Amino acid sequence: MSLFKPDYYVRNFENINMDRLKRRGIKLLLCDIDNTLVAFNDPDSNEKVKRFIKKARANGIEIALCSNARPARAKRFAHDLGVEKVYYLSFKPWPRNITKAMKHFRVSRNQTALLGDQLLTDMLGGHLAGIYTILTAPIIEKDKFDTQINRFFEGFIYRRFKKKNILTKGDFDD
Ligand SMILES: [Mg+2]
Repeated sequence: MSLFKPDYYVRNFENINMDRLKRRGIKLLLCDIDNTLVAFNDPDSNEKVKRFIKKARANGIEIALCSNARPARAKRFAHDLGVEKVYYLSFKPWPRNITKAMKHFRVSRNQTALLGDQLLTDMLGGHLAGIYTILTAPIIEKDKFDTQINRFFEGFIYRRFKKKNILTKGDFDD
């Protein structure tokens, strides 16, 4: 169960406390796209996301995108956002692209974090790679079809978390 448990749980990316990440020594933040930075059906970024990237960089934290989305979607989004490094078709929880990103940016596991909205892909993937994990509530309730299947299983995990007093859905750290 602990493989699905986030290290940090926020309502949205704007609420992430950069000091908290800095204190942990985070230098690279890998961001999921769909329902983490924008709604899954929104092709473009927006000012909020751009401000967030700026804020992270001002705090010495580099941003890269790590998404399970297709190349066209991920590349368009990254370009619009001004993020150079984008990993698409990542097949999270498979940690390969997370490891690749750490190599590219020459950072250790202790210096890397992953931000995402799903327990089965993002949190598990982050833990399998041995990095810090940040869970956000999804931007919108609606999901892509494959995500809907994940959400079904995610429901069991959230119920178990609550029962064991590990984490309550919607009870954010910040
Ligand atoms: Mg997502």
